[in-house]
Parts: sequence; C-alpha cells; structure tokens
Amino acid sequence: MKPNQITIALDGPSGAGKSTVAGLLAKKLGILHLDTGAMYRAVGLKALRTGLTTDDEEAVRRMLETTKLEVILSEDRQRVLLDGEDVSTAIRTPEASLAASDFSKLPVVRHKLVELQRQMADRQSLILDGRDIGTYVLPQATCKIFLTAEPAERARRRLLDLQASGDHSATLEQVLQDIEYRDRQDAGRALAPLRQAEDAILVDSTDCSVEEVVDRITSYIKGIRHES
Ligand code: C5P
Repeated sequence: MKPNQITIALDGPSGAGKSTVAGLLAKKLGILHLDTGAMYRAVGLKALRTGLTTDDEEAVRRMLETTKLEVILSEDRQRVLLDGEDVSTAIRTPEASLAASDFSKLPVVRHKLVELQRQMADRQSLILDGRDIGTYVLPQATCKIFLTAEPAERARRRLLDLQASGDHSATLEQVLQDIEYRDRQDAGRALAPLRQAEDAILVDSTDCSVEEVVDRITSYIKGIRHES
C-alpha cells in the first residue's frame, strides 16, 4: 500500500443507501468505489443458476474454484463479470439478493471474496461499501462509517429503486420482509457478521437527504485526514 493511499469502510444494513452515498463520496474525494455486495450477488447468482444449496459447502467450494469473477471499477458504474458475462444488471433481482444473503454466510465464499477485496484495496485508494469492511476486511481502514436507517424507510427507498429500474411486481410489504430477513441473516452469521466497528461513526439517514449524509461524512473524513 502506498503512503498516501486511503481506504474508507462504509458498512450498514440492506437498503441504507450505502452504494449511492459511496458513489458520491468517491467522486468528491477523487477515488474509486467498490460495492462488495455486488460480488456476493454474483456468487449467489452463479449458485442459483447451478442449482446449488447452502448445505453443500463442498460443492460451493468446487464451483468457486472454476468461477472467474472480475470487478471492473470506474468513475461511473462498477461492472461485474461472471465467467466473462456482464452480470451487473442480472445481480440486482430480488432472487439474486436473497441468494447473495444465503450464500454469503458460507466461510468458503467469504474467504474468497475478502481476499479479492483486500487485494483491490491494496492497489489503490478505495471506498468499500459492505457489511464487514470495518470489522473484518480492513480493520485498519483510514475511516469507518456505519450507515443505517429505520427498516420501513429502507424498504420504501428500495421499492422506489426497483420501480425506477422497471420492476413493478414487488409490494412494500414484500420488500420490508426481504430487508428484515437479510438483516437477520447478516447480523446472525458466525463469520464476519454485520455490526458497527467500535471505531466507526454512526450515521442514521432516516430523516436525512442523500446530500446531507454525504456532507456529514465528507466533513468527518476531512477531519480524520487533517489529524493524520
Ligand atoms: O449490499 P447488497 O445488498 O448488494 O449485498 C447483498 C448481500 O451480500 C447482503 O444481503 C449480504 O448478505 C451480502 N454481503 C456481505 N458482506 C458484504 C457485502 C454484502 O455478506 N461485505
């Protein structure tokens, strides 16, 4: 890692707005953004397509050995290639979300993806959004933020996102159930569960606009960089 390189860990539950906020922060700071959830989604998608279940971890390990996962970072939109296929849109369905949440609890999956994330953070300044970045992937990150919001508000925003992408099939109730299910799984797993790192600042975005959240985090990051 180069001397003036920085890493920013942005963790929090599903639908808290991490990706949007991380993308805007990355632009402001002139660094790249890695959405780690997209990597778990790609693995979940492949497991779904292959017909695997989470009780057969050995089969998942074999699948991972022959899987090529590439994340192409850019200032605009991150792309994820699964065995050469661009799955950036396919990983956004509710089915892929659930599969990501289910398969992400397997140590074999986490070890592989965490290694890739650490390698990427070692090469360049990055803001990474996920669940375990500040606690497990990069415990030495320059700044750590835990972004959250009330479940009902997260569900409302997720539904708007789905509708904006042309999916009008889900109801608010279904989206809320999905979010609560994923929160439970993410917070309850044995390896690297979702939780706020002790040295992370807590930002609750329930009653804030995206701009307010970004401004607050930017001031915090500037303060930390100024101190060091
Ligand atoms: O962030 P996103 O909702 O796209 O993540 C999809 C799923 O991937 C989450 O529900 C979570 O189970 C898993 N995930 C994880 N660790 C991360 C990022 C995502 O377990 N660092």
